[in-house]
Amino acid sequence: MATIFEKIIAGEIPATIVHKDDRVTAFRDISPQAAVHVLIIPNKPIPTVNDVSEADEATLGHMFIVARDIAKKEGIAENGFRLIINCNKHGGQVVYHLHMHLLGGAPLGPMLAGGKHG
Ligand code: 5GP
Repeated sequence: MATIFEKIIAGEIPATIVHKDDRVTAFRDISPQAAVHVLIIPNKPIPTVNDVSEADEATLGHMFIVARDIAKKEGIAENGFRLIINCNKHGGQVVYHLHMHLLGGAPLGPMLAGGKHG
């Protein structure tokens, strides 16, 4: 079953695309959690970080290059930003097509809401 992100890559569902090349697509999150909230995804549907393989190394590395360039274009590179990849239930992953959240535009606060585990 294709995820919603595969449909966005295929152009079947609208999204505000900010970058697209042969390996990676990036678009604005539909429910932004920060002034800048862009999702950077491999065009290949890798469900989670648990599913990455050595063959994906170049694509995964390219996601960081794309993140760097988008951060610069959005004007948040110098002040800084956060990259998040959630994995499975405990990570809070909702869409099972690996994606990197690029968040910034203002101080983002503590890394985790709770700050403690237990
Ligand atoms: P996750 O919790 O899986 O790491 O993050 C999934 C993200 O995808 C969420 O931030 C959510 O707002 C975003 N999202 C879910 N459906 C859509 C959609 O149809 N379009 C866009 N642009 N973002 C979506």
